[in-house]
Amino acid sequence: MVKQIKGIARDTLTFILEVSKSTAPNEFAGLLRADDGVVTEVIVLPGTESSEVSAVMRMYMLPTISIAGSVHSHPTPNVNPSRADLSLFLRTGDCNIIVGFPYNEKSWRCYDASGRKRTLPVLDIDFEDEIVI
Ligand code: ZN
Repeated sequence: MVKQIKGIARDTLTFILEVSKSTAPNEFAGLLRADDGVVTEVIVLPGTESSEVSAVMRMYMLPTISIAGSVHSHPTPNVNPSRADLSLFLRTGDCNIIVGFPYNEKSWRCYDASGRKRTLPVLDIDFEDEIVI
C-alpha cells in the first residue's frame, strides 16, 4: 500500500496545470505516484484517449507500480467528481485531483478514495535527481 500522502510537489502541480491547460478543451487524465508520501510524478497510461466530455484510461495498461491516486481535468470550472470519477477514485487511491478551467492554483481540488474532499498541501521540494539533457 502507498504511504499516507502528505502533499504534492509544487513542480508536479505546475506540470499538471500546464498540461491540463494545453490539453483543453479535451480532458487530460493520468495517475499519480508518490515518493516518500509526496506526489512527485504523473503517469499517462498508453492508449489514454481524451475528448471534450471524457478521458478513457486503459487501466490494464497500468504497470505493476504503486499508485497514490489519479488526476484529470474538466473543461469547465466545475471540479465536482462525476459518477464515473467516483468509481475511478475507488480503484486508484486516496489522492485524486480534479483540475478545472482556468487551470490555475485555485481551480483544482483533491478527493480521497471515497470521493470526500481532502487537503493536499503544495510543498516546495527539490528534485535532486533531475537530469538535464
Ligand atoms: Zn471528471
